[in-house]
Amino acid sequence: MTENTKTGKRNWRPATTLVHEGGMRSPFGETSEALYLTQGFVYDSAEAAEARFNGDDPGYVYSRYANPTVSMFEDRIKALEGAEAARATASGMAAVNLALMASVKAGNHVVASKALFGSCRYICETLLPRFGVESTLVDGTDIDQWKKAVRPNTRAMFLESPTNPTLEIIDIAAVADLAKTVGARLIVDNVFATPLYQSPLELGADVVVYSATKHIDGQGRCLGGVVLSDEEWITEEVMPFVKHTGPHMSPFSAWVLLKGLETLPLRVAQQTNSAGQIADFLAGQSKVSRLIYPGRDDHPQADIVKRQMRAGSTMVAFEIDGGKEAAFRFTNALDLIRISNNLGDAKSLITHPATTTHQSIGEEAREELDISDGILRLSVGLEDTLDLLEDVEKALAAV
Ligand SMILES: *Cc1c(COP(=O)(O)O)cnc(C)c1O
Repeated sequence: MTENTKTGKRNWRPATTLVHEGGMRSPFGETSEALYLTQGFVYDSAEAAEARFNGDDPGYVYSRYANPTVSMFEDRIKALEGAEAARATASGMAAVNLALMASVKAGNHVVASKALFGSCRYICETLLPRFGVESTLVDGTDIDQWKKAVRPNTRAMFLESPTNPTLEIIDIAAVADLAKTVGARLIVDNVFATPLYQSPLELGADVVVYSATKHIDGQGRCLGGVVLSDEEWITEEVMPFVKHTGPHMSPFSAWVLLKGLETLPLRVAQQTNSAGQIADFLAGQSKVSRLIYPGRDDHPQADIVKRQMRAGSTMVAFEIDGGKEAAFRFTNALDLIRISNNLGDAKSLITHPATTTHQSIGEEAREELDISDGILRLSVGLEDTLDLLEDVEKALAAV
């Protein structure tokens, strides 16, 4: 069949892992990973089909269950994350939903941080309660609130750090300790940190989820997601859910995202470098009333950043003095940086959360999350840093 180039544990560093790990070469000996765009698989005999279905022969059966290109993506990111097992999904939200659905049942309770990506908040706050799973949202940066929210039936905890859009940091190890004590599964949405800058499993989390749509693709093409955790839970709970409900990743997306992983370290390093320089520039500007960047010493949780992250961020959050009007004037004066709600892209993108991504949660919830009308979220791309700085400087002059 295929020459499997993965042989398990090697001491490769992340960049090498992301180029080579998880490759499965066909007899043609192709250099680049093959795209197996097929729904199903054929068997040489009725006995072979029987063996595939009863598990005696561990080959492929149907692409809703597993597919070779998707397996390559899963094996590569699994090696980077240091996880035992991974399941790729059609989108980041499919991954979050899968991780939560595979963790709870009616009568259980979930504690989650308030500062969540909008759709994650919808699942916790609106969707789960419809199926008899109650949830409590807490200020994730306050460990006492996590403790107070715990109930005897708490089975899952969920957070993202750095948070969207205000780049707050949650102490993952502290929440993981609590989760262990009460017997809940801690799920961390690690999109903003990327697998390169933060390893939640090493900090004690049980599950890591990604929207691969963001930095892993990094060029704005495909949606995708992945759930990473221990072998037992993935096999017993996650696999059956994927098999029978169909949130799997398409082989085409897996192929794009697999190739995206190869350049992830280069891209994220460049984006972080530019983001740091833009943050430093903005920090000295009188028209900027607030600057939040996890790579700077003036970040409110700089001590936790040092403990749990390997570098800053590709994202910068800042508040333009003068509310919505000033923020809009700044945004509209940008030439190079485009207005979009996406992030992690090669193209730099700016968002005004109060009127877009966080419009629907309402003013009160925005106040709670410190998302003022002047806050902007910048996802730094791969353009020349000087061009980006010039664009930001020019827009600021227009405010
Ligand atoms: C984008 C995003 C998601 C959802 O991912 P999709 O691929 O768009 O479904 C979830 N969590 C975070 C933190 C995100 O940024």
